[in-house]
Amino acid sequence: MKIRLAEIPEDGRQFTFTRESGELNTALKDLLPAVPYKVDLTIRPLGNAYEMEGKVVTSLSELCSLCGWDLNLPLNRTFREVLVEEEETDRETHHVHGNQSVDFLSEGSSSTYKDGVFDAGEFVHELVAISEPMYPSCGDPDCEHLEEANAKRAELEAEFNKADVDEKTNPFAKLAGLKVEDTKSTNKKH
Ligand SMILES: [Zn+2]
Repeated sequence: MKIRLAEIPEDGRQFTFTRESGELNTALKDLLPAVPYKVDLTIRPLGNAYEMEGKVVTSLSELCSLCGWDLNLPLNRTFREVLVEEEETDRETHHVHGNQSVDFLSEGSSSTYKDGVFDAGEFVHELVAISEPMYPSCGDPDCEHLEEANAKRAELEAEFNKADVDEKTNPFAKLAGLKVEDTKSTNKKH
């Protein structure tokens, strides 16, 4: 969704994008493939730049980093940015541009536009991407199913170990047997 900034009137313009209106569906399809979302955006001219504020409301489909439980985390994020024209200096540092724009976002200060066009799809995509938690958790703040998950894990481990021991032709099972005898003889020497 590209916004031509020259078309923004003096007193600003408000935009609303949803899954139903569809303008951002393509830009967001990797992060928000199916869930509803609503993006409110107001842009106003500010000297030779533009002021933008708004809100993203949606939910993120994640897995709990500890128990693997499916999560639907609500995302309700406001933002306030100054849109500035991308300068030539940006071309000189083109290789770090990707990192730069993320820095701008996390500071909540400024974003760039190019040739009079602001890419709202790219902006919202970045905003949603940096809002994803590094270690999502099914509880607040801790995993609610940790005990259950650990018990299940221990159960599976026990089953694997049992399968190893039962497997008579498994060389590791034989090694495990030898190791036990070794330990016993070593113990006797002491
Ligand atoms: Zn969990």
